[in-house]
Amino acid sequence: MIISCPMMTSLYSVRMRASCHDQHISGAERLVPVHAVAETTAALIERALSAPLGPPDKVHCNSEQIDPATVHWAKLPDVYSYQVESVQDGRLAATQLLIGAGLSADRAALAVATLAEGAGPDGVVMRGAVLMDAVTGERLEHDLVRGVRVSRMDLLSTCRPDVEALLAAAGLGHHRVLEALILSGKVLQAPGIVAELCWSDAPDYVTGYVAAPRCGYQRISQLKTAGDKRGGRVFFVDRTKVTVSALVDYLERQPVLFDTVGTIAPLKKWELPDA
Ligand code: AMP
Repeated sequence: MIISCPMMTSLYSVRMRASCHDQHISGAERLVPVHAVAETTAALIERALSAPLGPPDKVHCNSEQIDPATVHWAKLPDVYSYQVESVQDGRLAATQLLIGAGLSADRAALAVATLAEGAGPDGVVMRGAVLMDAVTGERLEHDLVRGVRVSRMDLLSTCRPDVEALLAAAGLGHHRVLEALILSGKVLQAPGIVAELCWSDAPDYVTGYVAAPRCGYQRISQLKTAGDKRGGRVFFVDRTKVTVSALVDYLERQPVLFDTVGTIAPLKKWELPDA
């Protein structure tokens, strides 16, 4: 469904990150027209101050002008939701969906194990994503603590109320869903991306997803046990299609705005595909 796509005269990237004792506790970002910068900044700071892991002792919020002519316009991925009975079933479903996206069983299992064990050095949670060669499984991110941080993406402000209403009607009204969908939507637009695997590091949020350009954004109700603080993201890349530096540059710097929403399918019980 196309909602609207007005001409942009000015655009700002507004980004917030909050920490306590140097531990990251909250982060969010938006791409908004100049008249919305002050209001957006206030809302993001408010969010930092009421973060569940807070209160923070440091909040950074910055805004940076973006040339509207450089923006890529895109459609959000189609959304599918699968109900699984256990973490084990969820991880099996994630592995199958990664195989369906074109990965080998070994690489799919490696990604699941990487997040399950903690993707950073000594099992710490990374601030960004793992970049994994889709064929060899090699880790390609230069910094194993920071990883690759996807940035400068948003839903066009005028589309936001409609998309929020559509997601809420499908029982997906939690702000995390839209934020993850926007982030993943940008990842799927990036050159050479084969698939993404994600589950949150928030101990109380056990839903995760597998996304892929030809399969959409596929939520899985349970990918970890409640209380588990490990989580992260793995981006699989086809290095015959893109260099690592061009991909990282796209993910971190290319502004992407979504002005169209895809299908939102009803929740379905996960069933193993026929052999
Ligand atoms: P969240 O969905 O916000 O709980 O994040 C889950 C994990 O995804 C985090 O632990 C990070 O490893 C990773 N992550 C969070 N934000 C980003 C981002 N902007 N770009 C890449 N990876 C991210």
